[in-house]
Order: sequence, then structure tokens, then C-alpha cells
Amino acid sequence: MSERLRAAVNVDVDGLYLYDRIHGHAGGSGNSTGFDPATAVATAWTRGVVRFLDLFERCGVKGTFFVVAQDLANPDVVAVLNECVRAGHEIGNHSMTHPYDLSRLSAVEIASEVGDARKALQDATGQAVVGFRAPGYVLSPALLEGVAEAGHVYDSSRFPCPPYQGAKAAVIGLYRALGRPSGSIPESPAVWLGERRPYVERTPSGRALLELPIGVLPGVRMPFIGTSLIALGEIGWQLSRPLLARSRWVNFECHAIDLTDHEADQIPTRLRTQPDQRVPLSQKWPLFVRAVESLARTHEVQTLGQWAEQDAQ
Ligand SMILES: [Zn+2]
Repeated sequence: MSERLRAAVNVDVDGLYLYDRIHGHAGGSGNSTGFDPATAVATAWTRGVVRFLDLFERCGVKGTFFVVAQDLANPDVVAVLNECVRAGHEIGNHSMTHPYDLSRLSAVEIASEVGDARKALQDATGQAVVGFRAPGYVLSPALLEGVAEAGHVYDSSRFPCPPYQGAKAAVIGLYRALGRPSGSIPESPAVWLGERRPYVERTPSGRALLELPIGVLPGVRMPFIGTSLIALGEIGWQLSRPLLARSRWVNFECHAIDLTDHEADQIPTRLRTQPDQRVPLSQKWPLFVRAVESLARTHEVQTLGQWAEQDAQ
């Protein structure tokens, strides 16, 4: 493996309906969350993804979009997906319906959620889909097996970040105490302090799957993802920058909702529980431009698929 400083920027395209599931606003799966289902899917694409495309073009980088395959039923989604492909970005698999308990499902259900989604994404893009990101970043041996078996080369779901994982477990516990069970499930504490650089993971049957962990700051293991960039703002960015500048692996993971504007994009008020919704786009946009431009100066920025291809050689 080379000594270059490596970075990747990627976006989980989670429809707004998924945030309702996290916050316990709706119990079921699918889009039945009280606001127009088509809008619930398309806003993340027509507002969030479109702005990430602008960001990537402006900063001269190629990124990866992790896509929930059921969203392709919406023609507005397909139009933006085609723009992503035309611009040379990678499309990764973020499952068929984004079940937060995917890691706990049976092998048959996993094969359908992971394998069928990969096929649908390949059909839609005409390209090989080689990467997977688990809903809620939660893996299990059975899920890793399913990801490898479906033909993926890499997974990018491990998030070895004690502050994030601890906060997530606390929020899930709080919602449970309030009688509003969250769709999310906590990750095992063993993962919290896991490897933070790329490594080869072995599935139960012995298959090799490259793991490209999500970004944490070296040493302190604070998160470096879109949500934390927004929450910590300019001061957080200034403190993070020197640590990032010498980090050999930076996997900057964002969500499409990061570049939405709560007011201008008419996002339902109840989603203001999301920290990214309390900051207007006019404040978020310059932060993201600075972060990605800065990464592109200090690191070689490639898609996760390109990094995986090089490591496989
Ligand atoms: Zn997601």
C-alpha cells in the first residue's frame, strides 16, 4: 500500500422518510410517513444530491453516492442519478429499502436487500457496483457474508468513533424511554475502537472484503463526517484541519440532507430534530466548500471504488 495521503468524499442518499423512521415518527417501512411520498424521496436527490454535484465539480473531485435502490421508482431520482453517472461519480449500494435492522435479518432477506439492490443499481447505471454501505453503519457476520456473496469488492460501514456511537446509543435509549422506539439499533462496543484505516475483513466463510472505515480524526477519534462538520461549525473545522492534514486516510462521509435548506426546501418542521436542519444552507455551503477544497489540496481524492481497486492489486 502506498504512502500517499488518501481521501474520499461520499454521500448517503437517505430519503427524508428515513429520518422519520430514526426519530420514531412512523413505525412502518416504506414511505408512509405523513408527507407526500414522492417528495419524501425526491427532495434528498433534487436538492441535496444536486448541490453535492455542484460541490464536487467546483472542487474538482469525484465522489461516491450510496443509493437506496427502491428510490429508483421515482423518475426525478433517476434523472439525477444519470447526472451523477455522466459526471463520473461512483454509485454504491445502500440496500433496497434501508432497513435499520438489516444486520439482524435472515440470510435470505439479506440476499434480497443487498443482492437485488446491487442488480437494480447496475441495471440503472450500466456500471458495476462494487461498494456497499450498511443502513445506520451496523454490520453483522451474516451481513458481511451477504455483501461479499452479492459480488461487492468493498464495504464502507465501520465507524470506529466512540463519541458518535455513544451518543447514538444514548438517543436510542432516550426514545425507548419516551415510548417512541427508534428504527435505529446501536453498534457493538467492539467496533467503537476498531481499525480506522482500510483493512481486509474476513467473512464467516473466509471470503475477503475490503473495509474502508468512515472518517474519524486521528488520535482523538472525534467524527469527521458531514453531520459533525455542521454541528461543530467554523471553530470545529479550524480545530480539525491540522489533524486531517496529516491523516493518511480520510473518508469524509456525508448525507444528501446535509446540503438541504430547511426553509427554502420546505422540509417538514418535525425534522428540525436533525442537527443539520437547524443550520441554513448559506452557512453550511461555505463550510463544505472549504473542507473539500482543503482535502483536495492535502490529499489525493478518489472514489472509494478507485481506492478499493488499487488495494486489490
Ligand atoms: Zn443511510
